[in-house]
Amino acid sequence: MAGAALLNPPFSIRCYPRGMTASTRAIILKASLATLLSIAASLALALTVVPMLGGVVDGTAWLMCILCPLLIAWPASAWQFRQAQRLKDAHGEIARLHDELSATHEALLERARRDGLTGLLNRESFLAELEKAVAAGGEGTLLFIDADHFKQVNDRFGHPVGDDALRRLARTIVEAVGEGGLSGRLGGEEFAVCLPQIDLSEARAVAKRILDAVRRLRIETPGGAAVSLTVSIGAAGWAGGMMLAHLIAEADAQLYRAKMQGRNRAVCASNMAAVA
Ligand code: GH3
Ligand code: MG
Ligand code: MG
Repeated sequence: MAGAALLNPPFSIRCYPRGMTASTRAIILKASLATLLSIAASLALALTVVPMLGGVVDGTAWLMCILCPLLIAWPASAWQFRQAQRLKDAHGEIARLHDELSATHEALLERARRDGLTGLLNRESFLAELEKAVAAGGEGTLLFIDADHFKQVNDRFGHPVGDDALRRLARTIVEAVGEGGLSGRLGGEEFAVCLPQIDLSEARAVAKRILDAVRRLRIETPGGAAVSLTVSIGAAGWAGGMMLAHLIAEADAQLYRAKMQGRNRAVCASNMAAVA
């Protein structure tokens, strides 16, 4: 019992009023310290200077050396410490708001780069990345991918199912492409993939993976039907310094050939057989 009473005393000595913040306590402490130093300095000055001038440090002088700093130094330094604390708090708040603003700005920039439906790079950002990849030199391949007869999906199952199909198609393309490529949505049911450092013959394997993955895709409709899709792909390779407009026109021409040859296939440069 006695031990417990010692551990939990029935009262505690509180130096500060309840509810006082840590920063207010720090201000009081610092102001008190500054006042104590002022009192010590006043006394030291009085005890050295007054005798040198032939005077005597009596009770009144002691009282003045203590009272003056107490009445002047304490409020003055408390006010100054409080202002410094306010300034520090304001700086902290500005820094926090600045970080918040930077994060929001980054998020907005990223959102502006993305296509709202699929989350892939939008047309402008994709073409900008493609331009950078081509300008970097070396070899690479551009794939243009277009969903086959996509209008029929909308016509038969409605736009929401069409939207869902486009989202799933985008994800399927990204997964089939893997780490080595960058995917974007050019608009509507048209997508593109930039494959830096991958030449046309290697890109055929990537195109085949996309074709196969899309063929396996099944999109469930609210009515219980399963929609399947196919895509046509046009591939064009680049090598150091090729004009972007040329490259895009070439990929577009190959995509057109894929459509003309019956869809659901990839067509590369003219001297290579189509990938089906
Ligand atoms: P093809 O094989 O010749 O490419 O035929 P297609 O039907 O895919 O091509 P077409 O250009 O005739 O139609 C494209 C369709 O894509 C028409 C449009 O309704 C649909 N589409 C485009 N953007 C969206 C979209 O954001 N959501 C949905 N649900 N459909 C879209
Ligand atoms: Mg289409
Ligand atoms: Mg199209």
